[in-house]
Amino acid sequence: MGALTVFDGHDSIGGTKMLLTDGATRLLLDFGTNYRRMGQYYEEFVKPRPSRGLVDYLALGLLPPLRGFYREDLFPQQDFPHKDEEWDGVPPDAVLVTHGHLDHAGAVGFLRPELPVVMTPMTLALLRSWQETATGGPETEVTYLTRREAKDPRLLKSSENRETRVIWSLGDAPDPFVERLRESPYANPKRGSFEPRDPCPAPLRVGSIGLDARPVDHSVYGGVAYILDLDGSRVAYSGDLRFHGEHGSDTEALMRRLEDRNPDVLVVEGTRLGSSPEEPLGPSPSEATVKGRSLSKVREYEGRLVVADFGPRNVERLKTFREVAQETGRQLVLVPKDAHILDLLSRVDPAIPHDMDPGGMRILREPTLQSRAPLQRIEERYSDAFLDPEDIAATPGNWILCFSFFDANDLVDLRKATPGGLWLYSSSEAHGEEQEFDFVRLQAWTQWARMKVVGFRLERDREGTLRPRFDHPEDRGYHASGHAPERDLVELVRRANPHRLIPIHTETPRAYDRLLQGTRIQVVHPVPGVPISL
Ligand SMILES: [Zn+2]
Repeated sequence: MGALTVFDGHDSIGGTKMLLTDGATRLLLDFGTNYRRMGQYYEEFVKPRPSRGLVDYLALGLLPPLRGFYREDLFPQQDFPHKDEEWDGVPPDAVLVTHGHLDHAGAVGFLRPELPVVMTPMTLALLRSWQETATGGPETEVTYLTRREAKDPRLLKSSENRETRVIWSLGDAPDPFVERLRESPYANPKRGSFEPRDPCPAPLRVGSIGLDARPVDHSVYGGVAYILDLDGSRVAYSGDLRFHGEHGSDTEALMRRLEDRNPDVLVVEGTRLGSSPEEPLGPSPSEATVKGRSLSKVREYEGRLVVADFGPRNVERLKTFREVAQETGRQLVLVPKDAHILDLLSRVDPAIPHDMDPGGMRILREPTLQSRAPLQRIEERYSDAFLDPEDIAATPGNWILCFSFFDANDLVDLRKATPGGLWLYSSSEAHGEEQEFDFVRLQAWTQWARMKVVGFRLERDREGTLRPRFDHPEDRGYHASGHAPERDLVELVRRANPHRLIPIHTETPRAYDRLLQGTRIQVVHPVPGVPISL
């Protein structure tokens, strides 16, 4: 008898953590950070205490109380802090990661190192780039880890002891990527450097569960959905997906596969489910819309600086702005951290733009000391591509600067380049008050830099609070969502035609009850920690 237990992510966008069991075989499905729950307690200056390892996370319910799942070196004392509420006690056999977003994989770093992590090479490259440049704690330790040691019964400190994780790669990792990982300064000579080639046990089977990993279209490359064959039942898990991006045909193929294989249970995302029938969602802008809108806007700013605000992990968006730059006689300028991401990703897929040289993409020299070895290597490897802020100020109309809010502090050095320029916001809408406030700060930065903003605007609500809005006709069309709109999700579900549907990754899971009325599909709303038998 199989069972599926949802621990987190059933009523939030992200933080997905599920356990699928079939007899003695046990698989985690994603293990992401729940940013909403984290934001209830923490912010920039109040964070989980690194010296306390897992204690703060478990005490606040930010991680589920699962005995035997977590790294033992992250407990200052050996005792588990929540014996009374313990939900499970047998370590899983593997964790299946759908894609490289942190709300799906951002808590994998807390799991035991010998627990195999199953993912595509592209997802591994994304998570590796995060680990190499983030200033986070153990949660970033997805591909290798630094052991913590208890200095006294309550305090943990980093040791010299590094350990690699076991990665089961879905598909072969190309040689340039393997070589890139070998040159890591973090590889522990005692244990040998990290090899991403440990094959997923052929033919893709862990214990009694058969894995069918199918590529999907999403706002990062390398995403998959899983169709899982248990003894006597079939479960499919969508991960995050959409049909309207560059790889939409992959999601179409998944839909046909689901139609053929007809899962008993479908666990499906619902990010963009409308909260009520009275609030229909607008049409989904495609990447082509984003390009068209951005191109004509950038043309209005001839001779002046343009900042494109998006995350370069979204390679599709990077390609869009690269085309916009080419068609307007400009060049893209990246921050070193983003050059590092592209350097890694292009070793998995050489078609990903990585021509960081005087004629291609340029890199902004940030006046900070790059103490991190991977960023130092970017300076060495692509030294010809680097530009100083003064170079940008001399010819502001030659560039599209790829920034996000987190790079806004670099505007101080670009003050001579920015007046009269454009800040083009090309990323997702704000989720929650914390993020809303970032837009208030972003507005302050752009006003200080004397730049025009398109893609969002601030308006006062009835209480007089400034809130960002994204739906003004002049701001629409500069971003294409990574998620399928409601009508596409319903189409996918109807075609898959499962007996039971379990909503995940949504703030409005009940919308599926309404949308599937009149079908034989039963919507099951999970209770965290309570197994649903299959
Ligand atoms: Zn995602």
